[in-house]
Amino acid sequence: MRPSRAVIDLQALRHNYQLARETTGAKALAVIKADAYGHGAVRVAQALETEADGFAVACIEEALELRQAGIRAPVLLLEGFFEADELPLIVEHDFWCVVHSLWQLEAIEKTTVGKPLNVWLKMDSGMHRVGIHPAEYPSAYQRLMATNKVGKVVLMTHFARADELDSARTDEQVAIFRSAAAGLGVEVSLRNSPGVMGWPSVPSDWVRPGIMLYGATPFDQPQSVADRLQPVMTLESKVISVRELPAGEPIGYGGTFVTDRTMRIGVVAVGYADGYPRQAPTGTPVMIDGQRSQLLGRVSMDMLCVDLTHVPSAGLGSRVELWGKNVRVSDLAAHAGMIPYQILCNLKRVPRVYTEA
Ligand SMILES: *Cc1c(COP(=O)(O)O)cnc(C)c1O
Repeated sequence: MRPSRAVIDLQALRHNYQLARETTGAKALAVIKADAYGHGAVRVAQALETEADGFAVACIEEALELRQAGIRAPVLLLEGFFEADELPLIVEHDFWCVVHSLWQLEAIEKTTVGKPLNVWLKMDSGMHRVGIHPAEYPSAYQRLMATNKVGKVVLMTHFARADELDSARTDEQVAIFRSAAAGLGVEVSLRNSPGVMGWPSVPSDWVRPGIMLYGATPFDQPQSVADRLQPVMTLESKVISVRELPAGEPIGYGGTFVTDRTMRIGVVAVGYADGYPRQAPTGTPVMIDGQRSQLLGRVSMDMLCVDLTHVPSAGLGSRVELWGKNVRVSDLAAHAGMIPYQILCNLKRVPRVYTEA
C-alpha cells in the first residue's frame, strides 16, 4: 500500500486543550469546524469529550455529524442558522446557536420552540464581517429576551487581528464590545486561539480555541504560550525511488530546479492531491530519517522530490516527515506563502491514523 498517512496524536490534542483552559481559567469550546481542521471531527470530539466544556462547528451539517456519532456535549453553531427552517432541528438536538444578524433574531421571534434556545449573541466590534452593530446590540439583546424563547445567553465577538501582537486593533475591539455590552450582566466570549495565547487581559467566561488545539501557532513570531503547543498531525511518507544525477539536470515539472553539482535525489509518495501545498518552493524543509533536508523542484500531484545528498544513510524506504513534530506546519506555511489553517484543512486522500503516544 502507498506509505503515506497522517498520524494524529490525541494525547497532544488533549495537552493543547488543557493549555487553552489553564492559560485563561475560562471554559473552552473546542473549535472543530471543517472536520476539525482536517483532523477528523468525530475522532477529535470523542478524544476530548470527557474534558471539553463543549464544541463549536460552522453549521448544522457539521453538528449533526457529531450527534449521529453519539456526542452529547454542547455544540455551538458558529454561524447560527442559514434558513429559519433549521430552528426545529437546533432545538431538537440542543445545539447552541450564534445569532449574528437581525434577520436571525426576527426568525426566532416568529418561530415556536418547544424548549428554550441557547443563544450566543454576536456583536460586530470592528471586524465588519458578521455581528450586530454595537449601537443596535443592547436593543437586540432586549428583543431576544422578550421572545421568552431563550435559555442561556452568551455575548460574543470575534477579533480580526489578534494574531498581530503589536496591533492596537484588539484592544479597540475589546473597548467597543465592553461599552456596548455594559450592564447586560451575562457571560461573554471573545477569544479565539491568538486571543487565548496573546491577549491575557481580555475578559472571558468562554474561550474558543481552534488552531491551537492542533498544535499550530497563529503567530509569525515566537510566543510563550504558543511555544508550549504540541503538534498533533504528522504527514509522513517514504522514499520510493532514488537517483544520482550530475550537475545541470532539471528535476520535475517545468525543470524549475537544476542540479548544481552531483546530487542524490529521493522521490517521496506525497503530492498536492494529498494536500501538500504545490506552492512550496525548493528549500522548504522536510525531515528524512530524522535529519533535516529540503524539497527540490515543483510538487507533483502524487510525488515530490527531496535532497538526499547530505543524508547518505537515507535511501529507498526512508521515512519522510512533511510536517509534524519536527517540521512545524506553520514553518511550511510560511515557506509556501500560506497559513497553517489552510494546510491542515486541505489534507486529502491519505488515511488518518490515531495514536495516544
Ligand atoms: C473559527 C473560529 C474560531 C477559532 O479560531 P482559531 O483562530 O482557529 O482559534 C473562534 N471563533 C469563531 C467565531 C470562529 O469562526
